[in-house]
Amino acid sequence: MEKRLRLAPSPTGLFHIGTARTALFNWLYAQKIGGKFLIRIEDTDFLRSKSEYTKNILEGLKWLGLVWDEEPIKQSGRISIHKKYIKRLLESGAAYRCFTTEEEISKLREEQKNKGLPPKHDNRHRNLSKEEIETFISQGKTSVIRFKIDEKIQITWVDKIRGEIKWQGKDLGGDLVLSRRAMGYEVGDPLYNLAVVVDDNFMNITHVVRGEDHISNTAKQILIYKALDFKLPTFSHTPLILNSEGKKLSKRDCVTSIDEFRDMGYLPEALANYMAFLGWSPKSAGSEILSIDEISEIFDLSDINKAGAKFSWEKLNWINSQYIKKMESIKLSEIIRGYWADMGWVPPSQEWGDKLAMLLRDSITLLKDSIDQSKPFFLLPPIQKEGQDFLENKESKAALKLILNYLIEQNSLKINKDKAKDIINEISKSHNVKKGILMKSLRVAFFGCLSGPDLIQSWELFSESKSDISRIERCLKEI
Ligand code: GLU
Repeated sequence: MEKRLRLAPSPTGLFHIGTARTALFNWLYAQKIGGKFLIRIEDTDFLRSKSEYTKNILEGLKWLGLVWDEEPIKQSGRISIHKKYIKRLLESGAAYRCFTTEEEISKLREEQKNKGLPPKHDNRHRNLSKEEIETFISQGKTSVIRFKIDEKIQITWVDKIRGEIKWQGKDLGGDLVLSRRAMGYEVGDPLYNLAVVVDDNFMNITHVVRGEDHISNTAKQILIYKALDFKLPTFSHTPLILNSEGKKLSKRDCVTSIDEFRDMGYLPEALANYMAFLGWSPKSAGSEILSIDEISEIFDLSDINKAGAKFSWEKLNWINSQYIKKMESIKLSEIIRGYWADMGWVPPSQEWGDKLAMLLRDSITLLKDSIDQSKPFFLLPPIQKEGQDFLENKESKAALKLILNYLIEQNSLKINKDKAKDIINEISKSHNVKKGILMKSLRVAFFGCLSGPDLIQSWELFSESKSDISRIERCLKEI
């Protein structure tokens, strides 16, 4: 039998990292077992669902490389089918009309709260007679459809991540509402648990992999599967992603949507690689830098942890920097050039731009870091306090003058890496100045501070853009 997995996002917000990680686990497992990865957009909450969110989710999946196998299904297009199944449950006696009003439900909740009890419906209309139903309808009362939940039943399944899970019928909150309110003998629009079961069955889903916040829904859904005589899929509940305080990662933790990660300069391959390890501990992975194709070969749901997975920026940054180091030069150069173009910075030549991009490769964690780090190559940086302090030392200032004189004497000398090293060695020897002093002074002249990318390679670039001499002169003038 074909193995089929799905992601069933609700398009009520931007593509969230939690949903993305669920998608990734589904995708990885589908690849591993030679199954299909499908998408169902659960857009029946008309007030909160937006087509731009659907677009955002699908684009985010593509960006991460999580390609799906069949045309995505929209739940909103299947409402009449959901209703057909609700009617079937009504007819079989597994469900019934409940006329309890909102006020009555609030009152019941209040009473339960006062007694310190959890909210639970009292199933008061489970056994209404035909006449009673008719009376309610003739009074113009609306009704929902409730699914009977046997208080004594125990629901058990073997979760592929958590092992055996047992849930008691009495802990499911009373008979389950399957539909929204409707007038007369109408059936209102379906609610989540009913629609999911009908659609997973329709899509022949064999493996349901979703967040642990759905465990109690699974217990309810298993009862609906049985009442409709549908074949049960296997269930797996993934751990939540937690913030540094051990609480569920939320919007308050700043960055949660995949767009934001992309805009900050994370590479899709790096983010996907990082997300796979968020909760998954393979027995033997060897390296932590693995493509999703490589991960899919060793991936198994049983290697997913039960406990929540803490989100770590350090780890994500490290993985991202590893991917930047591995990135194809042309691709990296193209991305960095895009940033320069946005800033209105024009490199003096194609070759110069490529060299600068390669120079930055080793020092950036995020692609966007390349903006700050390339800025001093395009714009004259101010001399910072640490630079000033350093050059106020006579020896450093004298060292800078020696370099300047050398360059002026050699008129229009083009510096490459070897030449740069020779100059430093030569001046150091002939004037008995420490190489470190020469290099640090030059660094202040170029960057205005004591940090920055490799000095020798930078010098080559400043020489090519004809700004090495002018920067040294400016520095000596200012200090
Ligand atoms: N729409 C649900 C959600 O986004 C889907 C849960 C499921 O996978 O069944 O949480």
